[in-house]
Amino acid sequence: GVESGSARTGRPRLTVVSGPSGVGKSSVIDELRSQAPDVYFSVSMTTRPPRTGEVNGVHYHFVDLGEFRRMVDDGEMLEYAQYAGNYYGTPRMPVERALAAGRSAVLEIELQGARQVRESMPEAQLVMLLPPSWEDLVERLTGRRTEDSELVRQRLDTAQRELAAQTEFDATVVNADVRSAADELVRLVTGHGSK
Ligand code: 5GP
Repeated sequence: GVESGSARTGRPRLTVVSGPSGVGKSSVIDELRSQAPDVYFSVSMTTRPPRTGEVNGVHYHFVDLGEFRRMVDDGEMLEYAQYAGNYYGTPRMPVERALAAGRSAVLEIELQGARQVRESMPEAQLVMLLPPSWEDLVERLTGRRTEDSELVRQRLDTAQRELAAQTEFDATVVNADVRSAADELVRLVTGHGSK
């Protein structure tokens, strides 16, 4: 419809959504997805093995290190990073195709990748999703129990670094409530927000 995508700004915009592990990114993005059906959501490549319930081509494209490296070498990644021992990257082509077709696009990626996008596409909008408090985040990360304690420790360290980088972002959204956080993100992604 006329109010979707970037109708109000006149050009498609790329929004990068980052935020520490445990902040509830997936829930907020899922809600955003259902509220903004015209927006393109990038499907990342990763070398990490699928978790239970994850579908290849839907949640991620699960590839081995060789295939990942080939894509990087051939310039097929818009950005990529190593995170908690695995590689993650955004395939360039689908994002460029979506933007060229007039759709807004969303990347849900970690901090190093967000910084690369900032460099290569300065017009991109960077949004960081924040927990209501640090205590809340620690609670969510240690209570989740899908990973061993070493990984949790690693992710807490990374989370601390990610939170410290929020000043590099154009906007922050606090995820105290999934619905409200998604509402705010919809406004930013579709161009109702500021930048
Ligand atoms: P997870 O393994 O929990 O699915 O993701 C771990 C981290 O990798 C999350 O912070 C997620 O945002 C990030 N991530 C997912 N896909 C990409 C990507 O394509 N590029 C980058 N740089 N980070 C990604």
